[in-house]
Amino acid sequence: MRTPIMAGNWKMNKNPEETQAFLDGVKGKLPEASKVETVIAAPAIDLTTLVAGAQGTPLKTAAENCYFENEGAFTGETSPKALKEMGLDYVVIGHSERRGYFHETDEDINKKAKAILANGLLPIICCGESLEQREAGQTNDWIAYQVAGALVGLSADDVKKSVIAYEPIWAIGTGKTASADQAQAVVAHVRATVKKLYDAETADAVRILYGGSVKPANVKELMAKEDIDGGLVGGASMDPESFIALANYQ
Ligand code: PGA
Repeated sequence: MRTPIMAGNWKMNKNPEETQAFLDGVKGKLPEASKVETVIAAPAIDLTTLVAGAQGTPLKTAAENCYFENEGAFTGETSPKALKEMGLDYVVIGHSERRGYFHETDEDINKKAKAILANGLLPIICCGESLEQREAGQTNDWIAYQVAGALVGLSADDVKKSVIAYEPIWAIGTGKTASADQAQAVVAHVRATVKKLYDAETADAVRILYGGSVKPANVKELMAKEDIDGGLVGGASMDPESFIALANYQ
């Protein structure tokens, strides 16, 4: 069935030296990729170090963003083609911080998903509602809207390979985790949305993560839920011991 994924998202933290120290700290302590896939998403400046250090280990690597063109006059952007050539596996797109602070739209995220897949990388597509939306009862509609927007024009085969991360904005970096039941309910809704847009086979294959204050103390309960295939973890992914504990939650 679906191989679980434990993905760290370092955000704008760590320099290359700190990246190397993390890699040294987790060396030999991560599960085989066939059991639990481990991934670290790091800032662009750390990716050379990350890819070199992950070589020959089960750890997979991710960028935290990229552009949707492969090259050209786009000052400050990162090319998905160059990321593939560097040896990256995944690219996180549509994180709520990028949507919020950098005004990324569903259309941008869709273009990025297409560019990532066209270059042989895999997207980790984030979605999530604000506290106001949750309290207004809009969560399911909003999540379906974001998921549909990100997937426009993608083939079923592309969606099967892709990863979706449900991250309620009110639970990110707040210490306020969604309860396992709350997380399961929305993750199941993401799967139902994929089924509606594609078919049961695609919905069964796509891996859907939960993110928002995941830590060693709550990972087991979240991972026990039927539709939750993994975690996208910010704060608790930065320390090697904590990441090792998350990766070995089983
Ligand atoms: P957090 O971040 O684990 O620190 O809440 C999750 C994320 O933003 O991916």
